Amino acid sequence: MLNRIAEAARDAGRSPDDVTLVAVSKQQPDEKIDAMLAAGQRVFGENRVQEAMGRWIPRREGVELRLIGPLQTNKVREAVALFDVIETVDRQKLAEALAREMVRSDTAVRLYVQVNTGEEPQKAGVAPAAADAFIAGCRGLGLTLEGLMCIPPDGEPPEPHFGMLADIAARNGLTKLSMGMSADYPVAVRLGATSVRVGSALFGGRG
Ligand SMILES: *Cc1c(COP(=O)(O)O)cnc(C)c1O
Repeated sequence: MLNRIAEAARDAGRSPDDVTLVAVSKQQPDEKIDAMLAAGQRVFGENRVQEAMGRWIPRREGVELRLIGPLQTNKVREAVALFDVIETVDRQKLAEALAREMVRSDTAVRLYVQVNTGEEPQKAGVAPAAADAFIAGCRGLGLTLEGLMCIPPDGEPPEPHFGMLADIAARNGLTKLSMGMSADYPVAVRLGATSVRVGSALFGGRG
């Protein structure tokens, strides 16, 4: 996995060090998580706050945890306490709740805005046309954003979506791009991903 990421980075004239592998551990058994930790993997992604708390509170030491699934405002306190990075900021109410909770708890969580590049109704994320204003709004609340995240539509070539995310980031002065999953992470790296979120290709199917 790391070899393939490094190869894709070099193909694109990038340094392999500029791409972080986020191991997506949702729905995986403890044995596989522990094996991954023993192998030296330190960055993990989860899509549910409650599930992540059960799995990671006992294993939290030295690990970077990223929330890559939708966040409800009533889970913001728990999410800010658990995660180092929240990649799914996508609406004003959530941005406000995060801003409040980070001040209240004196905790700085690194934040990404999720963009619904395919404008799919069932998917979370801010619409591409609304992204610039939403980013400005987050900054207006005092939030420091680290980057953007997207999940391209199933069964479509991902390149236009990755390209769109990179464009939105560039024009908003954001340098980090969370894009690419098991099926398409080499393509994402070629198009500028600074982190790829890989689950099944790393752990095997979710059971
Ligand atoms: C589950 C998930 C992944 C990993 O998917 P795989 O296809 O198993 O690599 C990546 N990103 C998000 C947002 C996910 O929910």
